[in-house]
Amino acid sequence: MMNKLKNKTIPLSEPLICGNEWKYVKECLDTGWVSPVGKYVETFEKITSRYVGRKYAVACVSGTAALHTSLILTGIGPGDEVVMPTLTFVAPANTVRYTGAYPVFVDVCSDTWQLDVDKVALFLKKECRWIKNGLVNRHTRRKIKAILPVHVMGYPVDMDPLMAIARKYGLAVIEDAAESLGAEYKGEKVGRHGLFACLSFNGNKVVTCGGGGMILTDDKRLAEQARYLTTQAKDDPIENIHGAVGYNYRLTNIQAAMGVAQMEQLDRYIVKKRRIASLYRQGLADVAGIIHQVENPEAVSSYWLYTVLVDKKLYGRDSRALMLALKAEGIQTRPFWHPLYSQKIFTDSYAYEITVADRIYSQGLSLPSSVGLSLQDQKRPIALIRLGQR
Ligand SMILES: *Cc1c(COP(=O)(O)O)cnc(C)c1O
Repeated sequence: MMNKLKNKTIPLSEPLICGNEWKYVKECLDTGWVSPVGKYVETFEKITSRYVGRKYAVACVSGTAALHTSLILTGIGPGDEVVMPTLTFVAPANTVRYTGAYPVFVDVCSDTWQLDVDKVALFLKKECRWIKNGLVNRHTRRKIKAILPVHVMGYPVDMDPLMAIARKYGLAVIEDAAESLGAEYKGEKVGRHGLFACLSFNGNKVVTCGGGGMILTDDKRLAEQARYLTTQAKDDPIENIHGAVGYNYRLTNIQAAMGVAQMEQLDRYIVKKRRIASLYRQGLADVAGIIHQVENPEAVSSYWLYTVLVDKKLYGRDSRALMLALKAEGIQTRPFWHPLYSQKIFTDSYAYEITVADRIYSQGLSLPSSVGLSLQDQKRPIALIRLGQR
């Protein structure tokens, strides 16, 4: 029994459901308002847009659906290209492919692990050229249409220079803020810059409604079109006349009810995530070969998953060996995503000068970061990582 307690499983990230979730969901079930028509969908959109500081929000079934819809409404289509980081979860790259366009993969910064904005500028300057109807990648001859920065692991991409580049080349910006709701950039919430910003409320995100996403924008017409496209593009709902090939992408009232209850706790969750991060930083500060992410002055990370790099030369073992050692003790950790540029499904996509992402990938390890993680439980991975040092 003692042993069992000692080896209690510590998950990487699990949702914390301790607010009004039951109450609001029960209300949906009791009143029969379960479908995408209902007051919680509206409330969820209102509080989320207000929280981030955008004018309009459209709730979707997933972050992936939000990204797909945003790309369509940006006018991304077959044969176009969208510039994005190579080190990210696969969903944003997949949504580019859904439209028939191709991602262009750019490297990440070695200290923040975010899209390297300087390399984006170099790629556009050196590898692209203007022809009469736009900017063309001279390697693929495809047209560059947009930049899709992904704020990974709760940390903001350096948006001011990125927006300046986008303006210079006339490119649209779609932000993937799925992992970074509540993070800040220069004193404002992440998700304020792009023509669209997309959120996810998937089970392991900072706040969750089981599954869900959100499109944010300041453009009223685009918000209306997003609402239209995500509900089967009905021009005449009685006669069933459709003005476009639409999607069934709208969030249900039940999920939105849970989302509202979770949003009520978001600020508290961020405080907790940041406390978890500072405990890891303190607890592992003097461990040789455990490298922490830099938090620049313009950034306030939401520390979605607290992630370190493991330098085998200094630490004595690599990130995967550490992962297995922690797993044997019931502690769940996870590597970074395999860089997308070298994945089989993206071999027909262009990649520009990737020299950093592979090292971050091989060294990266995300540590247990649940909002409900107790101080006592967090001491175990810290102690074991210290012990594993040679
Ligand atoms: C989770 C995630 C998504 C997709 O969100 P879903 O709601 O799971 O579809 C998109 N982009 C990033 C970076 C993510 O982490």
